[in-house]
Amino acid sequence: MVDFQCSYCGKAFPQLELKRCARCHSDLYCSRDCQRASWKYGHKQRCKVVPMDPSSPEWDEHLLDKQLNRWIDTWERILWTLGVLALDLPHRPDNIQATHMAVICISPRPHMSNPAQCYKINWGGVWSHERCKSTWPEVPLAPIEELEPNRARLVITMVDEEGDLRRTYVLSCQLGRIEEYRKLPKEFSRKIASRWVSVLAALLDRGDVEEANRKWYKPFS
Ligand SMILES: [Zn+2]
Ligand SMILES: [Zn+2]
Repeated sequence: MVDFQCSYCGKAFPQLELKRCARCHSDLYCSRDCQRASWKYGHKQRCKVVPMDPSSPEWDEHLLDKQLNRWIDTWERILWTLGVLALDLPHRPDNIQATHMAVICISPRPHMSNPAQCYKINWGGVWSHERCKSTWPEVPLAPIEELEPNRARLVITMVDEEGDLRRTYVLSCQLGRIEEYRKLPKEFSRKIASRWVSVLAALLDRGDVEEANRKWYKPFS
């Protein structure tokens, strides 16, 4: 039988054992706890009621959300990994993951049949909490004091072909243990942190998610 993954903890289950999010119908959860945690750490922003009428303007927005959510789900592990590596943890203060975060800006790449390749990265950087708050007041960034110490965040902004800002999301990275990233060889960490945007751009260009996960994703579990 084909197994499905819980959208939060990532463990595989037969589909019938998972409950679908009642609002957006897109995420699957193995338990109430996973659903609650997922809501708190980001699903809230992405969860939208599916509109009824395919000829309404809401429908286009719905399709956009669907495409973008699918893209984020596809690349989630890579986005987390590089979002954490961007922070160069071995060289930075202990609370860097609370005060700073990786930020990327993506835009659609039209006419791409591979859903993994339907967005390209325009730029990326590491921004302070304050800078993110003042640039995108609408982004629901939890106050620094409320963050769990082991979480890092990644802000994804999407602009359309005209350069208009269409979506902003915060991914809360619960990837392995942050301490493990602190123990990375310093030279390696510095090198990756200085070029994480081009590494990410190259992976997105290639569109080979499996290969990218194999090479970059280390769950440290
Ligand atoms: Zn779960
Ligand atoms: Zn939902």
